[in-house]
Amino acid sequence: MNGLMMDYPLTLSTIFRRAESLFGHREVVWRAADKSIRRYNYAAFAERTRRLARALLDLGIHPSDRVATLGWNHGPHLEAYFGIPLIGAVLHTLNLRLHPEELAYIVNHAEDRAVLVDESLLPLWEQVRPLVSVPTVIVVAASKPVAGGYLEYETLISRAQPARDLPDLDERTAAAMCYTTGTTGNPKGVLYTHRSLVLHTLGLSLDHCMGIRESDGVSPVVPMFHANAWGMPFSAVMVGARLVMPGPHLDPESLVDLFHRERVTLTGGVPTIWMGVLQFLDANPRRYDLSAIRAMYVGGSAVPQALIEAFERRHGLPIIQAWGMTEMAPVGTVAHIPGTMAEATDERKFAYRAKQGRPAPLVEIRARNEDGLVPWDGQTMGELEVRGAWVVSSYYNNADSADRFTADGWFRTGDIATIDADGTIQIQDRSKDLIKSGGEWISSVALECALMGHPAVAEAAVIPVMHPKWSERPLAAVVLKAGASASPADLRAFLAPQFPKFWLPDAFEFIDAIPRTSAGKFKKSELRERFRDYRLAD
Ligand code: ADP
Repeated sequence: MNGLMMDYPLTLSTIFRRAESLFGHREVVWRAADKSIRRYNYAAFAERTRRLARALLDLGIHPSDRVATLGWNHGPHLEAYFGIPLIGAVLHTLNLRLHPEELAYIVNHAEDRAVLVDESLLPLWEQVRPLVSVPTVIVVAASKPVAGGYLEYETLISRAQPARDLPDLDERTAAAMCYTTGTTGNPKGVLYTHRSLVLHTLGLSLDHCMGIRESDGVSPVVPMFHANAWGMPFSAVMVGARLVMPGPHLDPESLVDLFHRERVTLTGGVPTIWMGVLQFLDANPRRYDLSAIRAMYVGGSAVPQALIEAFERRHGLPIIQAWGMTEMAPVGTVAHIPGTMAEATDERKFAYRAKQGRPAPLVEIRARNEDGLVPWDGQTMGELEVRGAWVVSSYYNNADSADRFTADGWFRTGDIATIDADGTIQIQDRSKDLIKSGGEWISSVALECALMGHPAVAEAAVIPVMHPKWSERPLAAVVLKAGASASPADLRAFLAPQFPKFWLPDAFEFIDAIPRTSAGKFKKSELRERFRDYRLAD
């Protein structure tokens, strides 16, 4: 027997209409390219979003057409986050840190019909343009007249009437797409449905995920072109939180200044951003008041325990780690201290927070190795598999990735994890980065996070190098802090009490910087290439 409740479609339109009718007075704030602070309220945001929707329709954008954005985090990008999906078109966020050829591949693969480009990113777009054919280019935040053939955003939306007749969409309609940066092979497109984004937004807004509230000043430092800024803009709009966006200014001083001035309460970004912020705060104690911050979400790569402790103990700032993937819209797990640990010692709590946490509701996890599904014993490593309401079911127009899904419909994450009895995961590695030494697995992530707890170490990445007997052994590439010194023997001695002896790196190489991916993660493929012919001393 079917139930008798409305089949109410879960679409971004409902989130938008809620914000428009309930939160017109709430603010959207951002730092523009020229560093000035811009602000308007949700009523203006909603009106401009409707104008954008009309303008796109007038330009001949049809349902299902992909409309790309190449932009930083700011008000007009938020308008695109809603204006494009609200007419049934697909918001396609482009990662501005990619190489022009890679961007061209993505634009061509997605067959983008239009693109909104920040004026400051036109030099990048000009390199992409000869390699693609996108009929409509709209320049955002233009400070001067735009070149022939391009449209100017403000003129475009001021001439368009606000669209009042937005279509009723099916919740399974594609709303947005995002390509994984793909450290191997070509980027792959993830196509989010309205339904998945609405459910992700609801999930994210729960207290044991990100708990975004109306009273918050939310600052997504994670770019809007990276996995929907982790869904923070959608959640903020749904609950009517104040949004505070950094624009292109991601240096520590600009960020800290913005958090201070705008009384930011909740923010999120990758560890490398916070490492810079920590150094800045250590060097400028008490200059800024960040006491309004109640949560700093950090994810995208493993968060060293030392970073969590340093923020908490020296600056009273609470880091909360989360794990996710573009393929998961992106939040999978969040490491809030479980209720059962309320009375635990600080040491145990810090150790917990260095793990990736427990799954969000509507996300299920399991892990598998050669012997089958691994027990939830916190010891046995296996590849993490997930399924849930906001997990990819297949990549966009990509026939080669069927092996990423199991026969019973779970998504294989490519991450190697252990699962504790209470469902807390700890990411040990990406499967391609795991070090296989004499048939045993060594977690490069665990070694890196520990090394970054050494007072002389700024950054560390651990990679496998060939070994005649053990097949692979760990090499640690280490960046020392300015003016600090440590020898390989010091670092080995520092690690020794924390790991089995066979995990300890055979070699330590001191380098100037760890190469980064377009998402600010360590680019280990480049390090592996650099140390490909490395000879370990016998
Ligand atoms: P990319 O594949 O380009 O890095 P994603 O942002 O989708 O793009 O990255 C997802 C991956 O990032 C995960 O599969 C995992 O390996 C890593 N990751 C994300 N969050 C964490 C975390 N908290 N700890 C360790 N690894 C993480």
